[in-house]
Amino acid sequence: MPPLLELINVAKHFKVKNGMLGLQAGTVRAVDGVSLTVNRGETLGLVGESGCGKSTLAKCIMGLERITAGEVVFGGKALNAWDEKKLRRRMQMVFQDPYSSLNPRQKIGSIIRESLDIHAIGTKKERREKVIELLRLVGLRKEFGERYPHEFSGGQRQRVAVARTLALDPDLIVCDEPVSALDVSVQAQVLGLLKDLQKRFDLTYVFISHDLSVVSHISDNVAVMYLGRIMEIGPSQTLFAAPKHPYTKALLSAVLPPDPARQPERIALTGDLPSPMNPPSGCPFHPRCPEAFDKCRRGRPQLMEVGGGVKTACWLYGAE
Ligand code: SF4
Repeated sequence: MPPLLELINVAKHFKVKNGMLGLQAGTVRAVDGVSLTVNRGETLGLVGESGCGKSTLAKCIMGLERITAGEVVFGGKALNAWDEKKLRRRMQMVFQDPYSSLNPRQKIGSIIRESLDIHAIGTKKERREKVIELLRLVGLRKEFGERYPHEFSGGQRQRVAVARTLALDPDLIVCDEPVSALDVSVQAQVLGLLKDLQKRFDLTYVFISHDLSVVSHISDNVAVMYLGRIMEIGPSQTLFAAPKHPYTKALLSAVLPPDPARQPERIALTGDLPSPMNPPSGCPFHPRCPEAFDKCRRGRPQLMEVGGGVKTACWLYGAE
């Protein structure tokens, strides 16, 4: 079966203008040649530090940012060939901040029902019943539909956000840091809910997070991003058990393992993430890489298969 989502060499560059004269001062390469596939019913975890391009990539997938190059193919059809309304029904997004993503002046029931109203789905009675069903699905009582967002906790609001995305029976949900603003115990509940719903409705997720431990709980495959590019990608179990790329190793070394006796030595990343306007030559990770050698400054490594379905962009594993 063809993948539900395919990204072919997708790039998103932003022109930066000089304030006074409006001349182009440079280009931010927020996403710089990303290729990946996501199969129906699976979760792709997209992980990396803040500013690595994950959220821009999410917007490119959703069609909320016009891509500079490459192609996004969804359901076998290029994204720009989709009718906007049909696309919105099949692709939805959950945002990071459950406080700002819900209109404080709208009752919860109305927030969940809104897309059904816009798309004129069912009769009024059927829409009301659907809202009650959606509230039940995300673990909220039907009377909550009459309340306002400020009456809910962060976790409950994120449940409401999930219910809203499910209203149109989408195939793909892009979750952009959906649990980052929540307490750890609430994070686990929302992740459990997302997993249950995925099984029940055969949902496909692109799950974005800066937190590798969160991504490891939910993802079938993981892509590690750095400066707009994928550094490593593969099945999450294989990748987390034996990461190859020094950047993945460093991110993983900062995560607490379930068994403290198996804690890998902490690899401290020195320096900040370089500017995507002026990325380093060669391997973009070389100024911070503890394993960098001469060749890393000269040429940019491409993703190469390193076994177990994992691909890594690192000169330690490939020839020029
Ligand atoms: Fe480090 Fe070199 Fe590999 Fe880049 S190519 S990750 S700098 S070892």
